[in-house]
Amino acid sequence: MSALIEQAVKLLRVAKETHGDALVYPCSMGLEGSVMVDLICRNGLDIPIMTLDTGRLPQATYDVVSAFEERYGIRVRVLFPDCHEVEAMVREHGVNLFRKSVELRKDCCEIRKVRPLMRALEGKEAWITGRRRQQSKGRADLQLIETDVVYGLKKYNPLLEWSLNDVEEYVRTNGVPYNRLHDAHYQSIGCECCTRAITVGEDERAGRWWWENDDGVAECGLHVMSIKQVTGDIEDGEGI
Ligand code: SF4
Repeated sequence: MSALIEQAVKLLRVAKETHGDALVYPCSMGLEGSVMVDLICRNGLDIPIMTLDTGRLPQATYDVVSAFEERYGIRVRVLFPDCHEVEAMVREHGVNLFRKSVELRKDCCEIRKVRPLMRALEGKEAWITGRRRQQSKGRADLQLIETDVVYGLKKYNPLLEWSLNDVEEYVRTNGVPYNRLHDAHYQSIGCECCTRAITVGEDERAGRWWWENDDGVAECGLHVMSIKQVTGDIEDGEGI
């Protein structure tokens, strides 16, 4: 566990030293988010933390944002979708459009999540993610540092090699605030309407857009278009 923490902090430091104020952490407010916020704040890394309020979040997510702010004395930047775009989308397709087709679900994610994120990433060089290799089949080939072809930014994945047990142990041991939906067997937490608890043996992200999944696990569009890049040019490269 200490080696994983050391590796994650080292990568965060490399990201901060490389990109300075042009680095941001968009936090999902899930369990990995708890680890990352604690690592950033505990180590005084001064990496701005933001989150996306889609308008469909569960109350437990607002509660953890508030708990972070109290615990660490920070203010999380909350980004909202363009209200005119949301109104037009709902007017045309209804409030639960995401259940009607994969295309409409992706449109909803695009307007409520991807576009606000793109605004937040304007002028940035890099962002941090809480993604882990074990979360789904689609994340098995992730690398510690990637180049995102959509946003043209570097992506750092400090928790890449962490297991779910590692994440849970870190949160428990350090008394880190966390999203209480995890106590009800939710793993990957997003919008209330598109997230459910999972059962034993299911993929960790099987609780997201489950009605679309035959054998794979859907992504929201924030991460699907990255390409991997070899990471040999950062510091000594060892353990990162
Ligand atoms: S997770 Fe569901 S409600 Fe949230 S933005 Fe995506 S489709 Fe819309």
